[in-house]
Amino acid sequence: MEEADLKLLERAHSYAREYIGNVSKMRVYPSEDALRDLDGFEEPLPDDPSEAAATLDVLQRIGAPATVAQSGGRYFGFVNGGMLPVGLAARWLADAWDQNTPHYVMSPVAAKLEEVCEGWLAELFDLPPGTAAGFVTGTTEANLSGLAAGRNALLSQQGWDVFEAGLYGAPPVRVVVGAGAHATVGKALSLLGMGNSHTEVVPVDGQGRMRPEALPRLAGPALVVTQAGNVNSGAFDPVGEICDAVHESEGWVHVDGAFGLWASASPSLRALYAGVELADSWAVDAHKTLNAPYDSGIALCRDRQALISAFRAAASYFQWSEQRDPMQFTFSMSKRARAIELWAILKTLGRSGIARLVDQLCARARSLADRLSGEGFRVHNDVVFNQVVISCGSDDLTMSTVQELQAAGEIWCGGSTWNGRAVIRISVCSWATTAADVDRAASAFVDARRRAGRQPR
Ligand SMILES: *Cc1c(COP(=O)(O)O)cnc(C)c1O
Repeated sequence: MEEADLKLLERAHSYAREYIGNVSKMRVYPSEDALRDLDGFEEPLPDDPSEAAATLDVLQRIGAPATVAQSGGRYFGFVNGGMLPVGLAARWLADAWDQNTPHYVMSPVAAKLEEVCEGWLAELFDLPPGTAAGFVTGTTEANLSGLAAGRNALLSQQGWDVFEAGLYGAPPVRVVVGAGAHATVGKALSLLGMGNSHTEVVPVDGQGRMRPEALPRLAGPALVVTQAGNVNSGAFDPVGEICDAVHESEGWVHVDGAFGLWASASPSLRALYAGVELADSWAVDAHKTLNAPYDSGIALCRDRQALISAFRAAASYFQWSEQRDPMQFTFSMSKRARAIELWAILKTLGRSGIARLVDQLCARARSLADRLSGEGFRVHNDVVFNQVVISCGSDDLTMSTVQELQAAGEIWCGGSTWNGRAVIRISVCSWATTAADVDRAASAFVDARRRAGRQPR
């Protein structure tokens, strides 16, 4: 790189520093003006090259003000994690290294850090040594990975090789999911050629937990999808009980633990986590509860060969090694070395640091729920993790309160329906959310409800 290129990187660094210094003070959702200014990006594809510094300036001028400040402490939408400084710092370094990770020979450092993270995560999640981990984009891909491994393993036990024969004429595999399963489970099942109309849906209780006594009688191959952390209520399915029942026959239990699997780190959440470790495959995000930068998820599989076998591929130019070849564990071939910043976070926090992070998110969620309940909001869920589901009387008032909240920009939350009622979903998922942010959030809810109540309806 030339001097000018290094200057360009310093410019980016200085813009980034400015952003980070400001993010906890920013509006959480961009203003109307900032959104309108996005039209400034619209132009014909330039015919000729231009100054890179000027390009960066456009990003800073138009892009930065139109960002959603989710790495600050007042973003409570969806289940979006913030970003720990050590994760960003390691990511910057990793970005400078620009490693591609299919084979060991393409990045020994990435392969080694995947191997280390794989072992650490198995330990943290109480899984047996040798559990395989694939480092993927997020839980969508991790669910797909676990279900692919499970489907293929179940069929392989029937003497059927999906890699060769696909599903044409394959023995049937029953698919069982809870009524509260995340949308990405249905997407994965459809991509896996199993569709959704054959799926047997298990009813859930008022918290969205699968009712184990309603599990269908299983005999023969069955893929059973549970979750540790309902996307609305944060509730955990009774995974241990389900595993006991399913493992009596040839069943495979997958756990969608996108944000909930990290409960394993916290001694105070042991009861919630109990039994999750008995499953066969797990999906978890690092970019939610762990606050790794986007995008980062992990597929975990007890039967190491089952995951490897699901992602079989061969070409004469491939170069397998005696070491870890990361593409053996994922659907993707080329991918960024996301284990680098994951390793940096795990190393820096350690087991007790992760426990403290998880406990802090849960404590802030409980404290916000208490505040809102005291202000007359109805809290619909048992706040067992970091999720809070509230409403304000009528469905109309709840929905207009969401609109008022989103327009004000002080905090950000989305709406949903829960047990037939319009609700507001709150996810406390950022390490950066302070007790003062909880106060500001509570006031923002009260103010928004007051404004919503004044609107003619
Ligand atoms: C977020 C989430 C997903 C999807 O994960 P992505 O990381 O967005 O792909 C799946 N299941 C649950 C329970 C989630 O919370």
